[in-house]
Amino acid sequence: MKEGMKESALGLYIHIPFCLGKCAYCDFVSYPYDPEAAAGYAKALAQEIYLRGREYSENAVRTIYLGGGTPTCLPPAMLKRILTLLREHFPVSPEAEITVEANPGTVSNELLESLLSAGVNRLSIGMQSTEDRLLRLLGRRHTAAEGVRAVESARAAGFRNVSVDLLFGIPGQSTGDWGESLAEAVALGPDHISAYGLEVYGETPLGRAAAAGKITICADETFREMYFQATDYLNGSGYVQYEISNFARPGMESRHNLIYWEGKPYLGLGPAAHSYIGRRRWANTAGLKTYCDALAERKFPVVEERVLTPADEMAEVMFLGLRLTAGISVSCFRSRFGLEPAAVYGARISRLVAQGLLEADRDRLRLTREALPVANQVFAAFV
Ligand code: SF4
Repeated sequence: MKEGMKESALGLYIHIPFCLGKCAYCDFVSYPYDPEAAAGYAKALAQEIYLRGREYSENAVRTIYLGGGTPTCLPPAMLKRILTLLREHFPVSPEAEITVEANPGTVSNELLESLLSAGVNRLSIGMQSTEDRLLRLLGRRHTAAEGVRAVESARAAGFRNVSVDLLFGIPGQSTGDWGESLAEAVALGPDHISAYGLEVYGETPLGRAAAAGKITICADETFREMYFQATDYLNGSGYVQYEISNFARPGMESRHNLIYWEGKPYLGLGPAAHSYIGRRRWANTAGLKTYCDALAERKFPVVEERVLTPADEMAEVMFLGLRLTAGISVSCFRSRFGLEPAAVYGARISRLVAQGLLEADRDRLRLTREALPVANQVFAAFV
C-alpha cells in the first residue's frame, strides 16, 4: 500500500476488451471475442489483480465497474471468477455498488443468475435505440426487441438497479424517432438512463461513410434540439439530471461514475484502463498482447504516468466538477487549494458568465442550461 492511502476508498474499473464484433461508430478499445484470447486475458488480469491487490490492500472498495468492450460476451463463469478474485485481493465493502455493462444480444437467464450470485447489483444495458433500422446502421449486434427483453429479464431475475444507455444524433434519426425511443425506454421503468449524443469519428466505418457522402451527420441544431428533448422529457418523467448525459431516479445515481466527476481515487485494471490515485494518473497499454506479455513477466502494463501539479488538479476539479448539474463548490475549492476559483480563472470565468455559459451563485459555479450540449467549449477554457 502507498503511504497516505490508508483511509482512501477506491473505485475499481475493470476493462473487458472483447465484443461480439465491432460497431460501426466504435472508438473504444475492443477486440472480437475469441475464447483463446479471452483465456489469456483472464490469466493476465488475475496477475494484475494480485499485484495491485498487494499495493492497495487497505483501501476499502466502494464500487466495482466491469465495462468494455462487452463484459457479457465473456462466459458467465469467467465473469464470476473475476469478481471472486477482486474480493479475494481487495477489501470490497459489503455495500459496494457492483455494475456490469451488458449488451442486449448477450443477456440470458443463465448470465443474469450468475451475475446476481456473484454479487452484481447493477446492470447497465446498452440498448442505444429502440429502432432496428438505426441499430443496423450503428452496426449493433442486437435488435430493439432484444433490448426491451434484456431490461425485462433483468427485472424478472431480481436486479433492483438497472440502467439503460441510449444514443441520439444518429444519422437518419428524426426528433420524432428520438422521442419514441425515450418514451419506450421510460416505459420499461429503468432506474437510470444515460442519453449520449453520437460522436462520429473519422477512422470508423460510420466516419468513412459520412466522408464518402453515404450518410449525413446530424446537424448541430438538430443535435441541440434532441439534447433538450431528452433533458425535458426525462426530467418530466421522474428522472433527475445529475450530469450532462445522465439521469436517475432519486438516489439511483451511478456511484461509480460520480467518483470520476468528483475527482475521487479509482484503480483501473485491464488493457487501456486508467487510474487516478494520490495525485498520480496512469494508463495501461491498450494492446492486448502487450498487456498479457507485461503481466506474464509480473510487470505492470503501464504506458503513461504523470504526477499532477496543483494547477493540473485545479483544472481537473473545474472541468470534471462542471459536468455535474450541481456544479462545483467554491468553498470546497478554497479549502482544498487555498484559493478561490476566481483568483485562478477570474478572466475566463467572467467571459463564460458573460457568454451565458456559466452561472455563479454564492457557493457554486455551474454550467447554464445553454452550455450543457456544448460543454466541451467551456471545459476547453480550463485546460
Ligand atoms: S459494444 Fe461498445 S465497445 Fe463493443 S464494439 Fe460496440 S460500441 Fe464498441
